Amino acid sequence: MTHSLPYGVLPKNALRTGGVMRCPRCDGEDCIEIDIGLEDKDSVQFFSCRKCEQKWWKHEGGTVNLDEVLDLAARSDFR
Ligand SMILES: [Zn+2]
Repeated sequence: MTHSLPYGVLPKNALRTGGVMRCPRCDGEDCIEIDIGLEDKDSVQFFSCRKCEQKWWKHEGGTVNLDEVLDLAARSDFR
């Protein structure tokens, strides 16, 4: 159980940066992404920027506001 990948020897573009989200406010890449499962395969993603503390949500690829997230969460709770 000791396979640590030698990232140092790989060319930089070999490391895909898929999933890196840029902050819409400060354009920083230092964002936290949390995937929150709803019903079945539905989920919302919560993003938080560590630079400027901007927070935002996404659902099905589009940005949504907190009210919509709460609405989705409520629907999955109350069948
Ligand atoms: Zn930011």
